[in-house]
Amino acid sequence: MNQELLFSLLVDLHLGGERQGPGSEEATLRALAQASSDPSSRLKIADIGCGTGASSLVLARSLPNAEIIAVDLFPEFIAELEKRAGQYGLSGNIKTLEASMDSLPFSENSLDVIWSEGAIYNIGFKKGIELWRPLLKKGGILAVSEITWLHPDPPEEIRQHWETEYPEIATSPDKIKQLEDAGYDLLGYSVLPPSDWQENYYIPTQSRLPEFAARHPGVQEVQDLIAMETNEANLYEKFKDWFSYGFYVVAKR
Ligand code: SAH
Repeated sequence: MNQELLFSLLVDLHLGGERQGPGSEEATLRALAQASSDPSSRLKIADIGCGTGASSLVLARSLPNAEIIAVDLFPEFIAELEKRAGQYGLSGNIKTLEASMDSLPFSENSLDVIWSEGAIYNIGFKKGIELWRPLLKKGGILAVSEITWLHPDPPEEIRQHWETEYPEIATSPDKIKQLEDAGYDLLGYSVLPPSDWQENYYIPTQSRLPEFAARHPGVQEVQDLIAMETNEANLYEKFKDWFSYGFYVVAKR
């Protein structure tokens, strides 16, 4: 499938979701507690790959004095985020920015916090943590979720799937070592539970598939995408003991 068509179909399918990847308010709040940022301070926070704002809205509500800059590649997601921020009375706390995560227009040493849930894989974890580090102030926080093996030596079927889809998948000790080697110190680590994948992401996504298909009658690529999404949800169900998102909270050394 050509990438432009795939992107526009992905946006169409996921625009109606409260989140575009696994996660939860609890997971965001847990990571925020591990970051132990002072809720009264005027933190400058970039939420990278914000989608329609699942984490941006939680951060804005929890940190009323912070300036949140919600960044995404797709203007449709940003427009939806702005609408939701307005509905929650949070428009004054959240600015938006249409930009790619590999060419962010922030100055060096300018951010207190970089937040990124379910998104860094788009440029790869290693590249992302290296590219973003200079943008943080010394002691600044990076809170990032990343696909992680929960045990070494996973079964062949799921190992092959991830080797094809995202070869950077690794265990948490490996990811933490990468973070330390890149100049961060670990403050906290947690694992997204199955409900963050299923109740919060796969089930709502699956429930939108019939309408999504009806919007694009006879388009083979839509059927392919539906098959892909369904296969992914089934693989998660079958192998959920073996992988999840790890949520890493680190400080710039
Ligand atoms: N953080 C959100 C969205 C996760 S899905 C949530 O947890 O719900 C991944 C997001 O990354 C999508 O919104 C997608 O549009 C965005 N994205 C993909 N490639 C990107 C890039 N190069 N730069 C910025 N955002 C990107």
